[in-house]
Amino acid sequence: MSLEALPPLRDVLAEHGLLAKKAFGQHFLLDLNITRKIARLAGLAPGDRVIEVGPGPGGLTRALLEAGARVTAIEKDQRFRPLLEDLAQAAQPGALTLVFADALTADEAALLAGEPGHVVSNLPYNVGTPLLIKWLTGPWRPASMTLMFQKEVAQRIAAGVDASAYGRLAVIAQATCDAHSVMDVPARAFSPPPKVESAVVRLTPRPDRPSPARLDALQKLTAAAFGQRRKMLRASLKGLGGEPLIEAAGLDPQARAETVDVAGFLRLADAWLAARAR
Ligand code: SAM
Repeated sequence: MSLEALPPLRDVLAEHGLLAKKAFGQHFLLDLNITRKIARLAGLAPGDRVIEVGPGPGGLTRALLEAGARVTAIEKDQRFRPLLEDLAQAAQPGALTLVFADALTADEAALLAGEPGHVVSNLPYNVGTPLLIKWLTGPWRPASMTLMFQKEVAQRIAAGVDASAYGRLAVIAQATCDAHSVMDVPARAFSPPPKVESAVVRLTPRPDRPSPARLDALQKLTAAAFGQRRKMLRASLKGLGGEPLIEAAGLDPQARAETVDVAGFLRLADAWLAARAR
């Protein structure tokens, strides 16, 4: 059987008697027009390697395979094994590799045998943010990420310094990547519909991505600064160097975290590293 000849996703779910499990954050995209649009937004070239977290019934997986990607799909729920094995049979030989594991602890570099890879996923909401942090700060760096989040999280990733959603996630995401929300997806597009709206975010790594030491400093400083976001930096960063550190970064000690842009936080990270090197 070829990909085109596969039955509709709803029929596949019914045939296997599969109902969504809340504990696994399961909200399925059964409309292939939407999954194809997400695959197009990922801008993949035929032969590109892709990590997909949570293929579930395989709607997005089908679209990625149609685009010619070589997909490594990591799924925690074993119930999807027979259905995904049928999909692997229908795809080009070797185009779909199935891994039944927790994506939070998966070793992507090993799974891709050192080849570069993109991440494309309709993420389970309960682990979406930790997975993003793993890919933004971990040793394995995706070539790009095209990820569905609940809309509120998408806003927190792409927010500019003036927006109310601006915070720690925006600073870490935008220091490492160019991050844009590229598609809104209404709750009714999912089965079952979640309580919230969703959006797809596209992240492409910046050529000037901070070194691991700089990123580590950035994580410490943003945790302290946004942990008390209404306080002035001189109070929230007291334990990390206080006024001398803030002034060394060319910032006003009376400023609040929410008014400091990404470049300002990077200068703080550099000042913190310089002070420790002394
Ligand atoms: N990709 C499918 C779609 O678009 O219809 C399903 C998306 S659903 C929002 C999230 C999927 O992630 C589910 O299949 C769920 O079982 C899986 N999942 C949840 N937690 C996971 C984890 N820690 N590691 C791997 N897969 C996980």
